Amino acid sequence: MNAAEKENLNEIDTAIVKVGKKEYEKFKKIPTELFKEINISSSKAQAAWEEAKTQNDFNVFKPHLEKVVELTKKMADYLGYEENRYDALLDLYEPGLKTSELKKVIEPLREFLVDYLAKLEKGEKPDNSIMKRYFPIEKQKELSLRALKLMKYDFDAGRMDVAMHPFTTTIGVHDVRITTRYNEKDLNDSLYSTIHEGGHALYEQGIPEEFSGLPIGDGASMAIHESQSRFWENIIGRSLEFWNYFYKDLVDIFPEFRENTPEEIFRAVNFVERSFIRTEADEVTYNLHIMLRFEIEEALINDRIKVEDLPEIWNKKMKEYLGIVPEKDSEGVLQDVHWAHGSFGYFPSYMLGNLYSAQFYKKMKEDMPMLDKEISEGNFESALNWLRENIHSKGKIYEPGELVKMVTGEPLNPKYFMEYIENKFNKVYKL
Ligand SMILES: [Zn+2]
Repeated sequence: MNAAEKENLNEIDTAIVKVGKKEYEKFKKIPTELFKEINISSSKAQAAWEEAKTQNDFNVFKPHLEKVVELTKKMADYLGYEENRYDALLDLYEPGLKTSELKKVIEPLREFLVDYLAKLEKGEKPDNSIMKRYFPIEKQKELSLRALKLMKYDFDAGRMDVAMHPFTTTIGVHDVRITTRYNEKDLNDSLYSTIHEGGHALYEQGIPEEFSGLPIGDGASMAIHESQSRFWENIIGRSLEFWNYFYKDLVDIFPEFRENTPEEIFRAVNFVERSFIRTEADEVTYNLHIMLRFEIEEALINDRIKVEDLPEIWNKKMKEYLGIVPEKDSEGVLQDVHWAHGSFGYFPSYMLGNLYSAQFYKKMKEDMPMLDKEISEGNFESALNWLRENIHSKGKIYEPGELVKMVTGEPLNPKYFMEYIENKFNKVYKL
């Protein structure tokens, strides 16, 4: 063992102790009684949320959400914070990140996205109906499997199954399973949820085996995990370079696409729409859905607004950011289960994942100027190796803020995402 290896080992040992201690001390602060109360209230709230959503009646959910919010505030107070009560919750998902920092990232991004969305309307709308024909499930499965193979997902250490809400399960580094879902009338659904979950799985498969079972044997954070799935799903999987290559697999399985060019497919899978539902949102509108939720929950946790005002505030923000207002709360404030779960502080992870992935991609391209060419040749190996070396192999040794700085040379900066969006969607909408 040389000095560098020794130093590296020391760093790992220190991280194991630090991460383990932080986690232990965090949860030690919360009284067992409160934990119990949170569990009971959130399971009741989830049942009420389902009923409220079905009946499209926020009042059914309201008292339960009030209870969950009250307990979550108590928990945040036990966890402790310096500036903002929401910091205590954010830290559960994105260790080290402060609400004030998040707000600084959101402000320019929101302004950019609202303006850019208006700009896209002057462009040429892609024809996304080509992805919404009838596609037999067996054939969709074949296409998804080919995409996973291309990504070098390790099938000897995993498998793909079906689930309503796709997810990734890690049983160990040798067994990382993913699920996908199929919609006979929409090819995007299965292909992109498979690639997304494949991205999560590659991260898990790339965490060093010797970290397994230790506090560092995990992804750096929810958002870093999401940066991996979104990198493969959006930056790679929705790129023109990807379709220049994958087109031959697509027409092999679905010959009807012979009538379309790879460029038409690239444009169709990047169709932008002002819509109500977060999980169906495209890359341009997605973060606006998240900002709205973040602003609401941060205000709620800090007692600046009340649960009873949520439907109204929700609709007002939808109008402001996306220019549309849902007719039903089931398509608005009631659409996500997160608040019933008590998962306040979770939503920003999705947005941060998008931002991190664009920042990583920028650095990756600097390190590997041939990257786009390689992707258009179906060679994803150097992209994967870069992620392995810079992100996967580090497990949870570093806090996400430290990791991003170490990998890209600067802290989280939303400008890379904005550049990425503009660059890509100007092509999609021929601006
Ligand atoms: Zn994900």
